[in-house]
Amino acid sequence: MHQCINRVDLHVHSTASDGVFTPSEVVLLALERGLDVIALTDHDTLGGVAEAQQAAFGTGLVVIAGVEVNSEGEWGDLHFLGYYVDPESSPLRERLRALQDVRVERAREMVQRLGEMGMALEWETVRALAGGRSVGRPHVAQALCNHGYVETLQEAFDRFIGRDGPAYVPRLRLTPSEAIQMIAAAGGVPVMAHPAHSGPAAVARIPEFTGYGLRGVEVYYPHHSSEEIEMLLELCREYALLVTGGSDFHGSGVEGGTLLGEVYVPLECAEQLQEAAGQEGDERRRA
Ligand code: AMP
Ligand code: FE
Ligand code: FE
Ligand code: ZN
Repeated sequence: MHQCINRVDLHVHSTASDGVFTPSEVVLLALERGLDVIALTDHDTLGGVAEAQQAAFGTGLVVIAGVEVNSEGEWGDLHFLGYYVDPESSPLRERLRALQDVRVERAREMVQRLGEMGMALEWETVRALAGGRSVGRPHVAQALCNHGYVETLQEAFDRFIGRDGPAYVPRLRLTPSEAIQMIAAAGGVPVMAHPAHSGPAAVARIPEFTGYGLRGVEVYYPHHSSEEIEMLLELCREYALLVTGGSDFHGSGVEGGTLLGEVYVPLECAEQLQEAAGQEGDERRRA
């Protein structure tokens, strides 16, 4: 059943946050891999969307404006995807800017803690690795790697900046309902990212989240087993939630190194998402 040629990837990162490829490179890669629809879902930023849409213009590839926001707290680390958000929405832009500012403060604090642990890093180096965009732990990991304090990015997470690591600093604490409502208020469709990957507690809260306006679940995901996929499909049927999916592509060497379009996502997932967002048939597809 999963032998079909995949045409859809609704979870993709670029250099606008912690991906390796620029938004234009991501588009080229998507075309090479024969994809019809991708969603650019960078962490806490819409900064890559315009470039990606421009690069895709006239190619037939649809690029959905997306964002991934995290809700972190005693409930764990839950991720929400926002699809078809309005990039011009000022409340959203302000919110994302605040999240960016906190990311900078937080990364500086991690650098300081690592320094106290004997791993001196220059803040400017980390900032440069982020390229002035959404700075995150992968950039800190890269700096640790470049300085030879660790051999791989994974080692940096496992030993120092993973959730239970000694140099880990949490992000701004958005509650799940704040994350969902922030997306909805910007005209977007809120979808829970990789719930089974986030853990059983995350899955258990999906019914509650529908009450805050959650409209879909990322069912197809590299780290979801076929049993988990079945279980999530059933949950989506029960609560009338949209089914989405994507690779969480970051580029090589990051987050297990999944490939763009690696996970099979039925085309109807993209169609139903578009319908739910109330988008007209997209002219770019026919261009
Ligand atoms: P941040 O948003 O700054 O907290 O960084 C989160 C990002 O770090 C994720 O989106 C992944 O790209 C990466 N990441 C998180 N945990 C791990 C891990 N254990 N191993 C490798 N990469 C990770
Ligand atoms: Fe990431
Ligand atoms: Fe995520
Ligand atoms: Zn992601």
